[in-house]
Amino acid sequence: MMRIEQLLAQAEHIDSPTAQLDAELLLAFVLDKPRSYLYTWPEKTLTTAQLNSFAALLERRKRGEPVAYLLGRQGFWTLDLAVAAHTLIPRADTELLVEAVLQLADASAALNVLDLGTGSGALALAVASERQCWQVTGVDRIEAAVALAQDNQQQLGLSNVRFLRSDWFSAVAHQRYDLILSNPPYIAANDPHLQQGDVRFEPLSALVSGADGLDDIRLIIAQAPEYLTANGWLLLEHGFDQAAAVRELLHLSGFTKVSSQRDLGGHERISLGRLPSLS
Ligand code: GLN
Repeated sequence: MMRIEQLLAQAEHIDSPTAQLDAELLLAFVLDKPRSYLYTWPEKTLTTAQLNSFAALLERRKRGEPVAYLLGRQGFWTLDLAVAAHTLIPRADTELLVEAVLQLADASAALNVLDLGTGSGALALAVASERQCWQVTGVDRIEAAVALAQDNQQQLGLSNVRFLRSDWFSAVAHQRYDLILSNPPYIAANDPHLQQGDVRFEPLSALVSGADGLDDIRLIIAQAPEYLTANGWLLLEHGFDQAAAVRELLHLSGFTKVSSQRDLGGHERISLGRLPSLS
């Protein structure tokens, strides 16, 4: 019989920078226990059914499948979210966008907020959970993403957010928002990183945007002024080397107070700008 400590040692067969953590998460998931249990009861053995499911998950992880897809869950901000293979796995870096949004407006103002390409709903739900008086709309072109975001909303019991199927702005014609945010696809089609690690299993529609990665960002920045109130803000996540290009696009579209902010790795990861009041 294999003990928990022996099973955890199999992490060495996972080719991942987080191999040990990955094995712990998979084993805790199979046992339906918190990770701390593994170190409190290292000598415990598993039932045959538990062993089989751990072996199957370990095998899939060895082939490269992201842990978040294997568990069907990923933490983002303060939230535990369901994720699925048709949406991007929420990243810690994207929490920077949540922080920036919360800094722009005090907690008392009742604002209308739009999240473009919401995927699992991560950004929309995080913002809605922090600002009960805001009305948040999350949109996604992919029907299954909208359904997943709605599932997450129900699990979290948030009533100030709704999700719609929309190809960028297509379903919100004539609406105006105080804040528009997006973590759009922004990777260049020929970027070699697409062939490495977890992203190989994520949908290209959530990752890739034309030859320079900026196709969707260009579209969003060009159209956003039509959907923003005067003095409204647009905030975008982008690639580590795209900040200067995104700031220029924001200026060209008439945005003011344009700036960028750095992520946990020190890269300029988000840029924002404010639409001036019409004179
Ligand atoms: N930051 C992600 C990555 O490099 C990409 C996310 C996106 O395209 N929006 O894997």
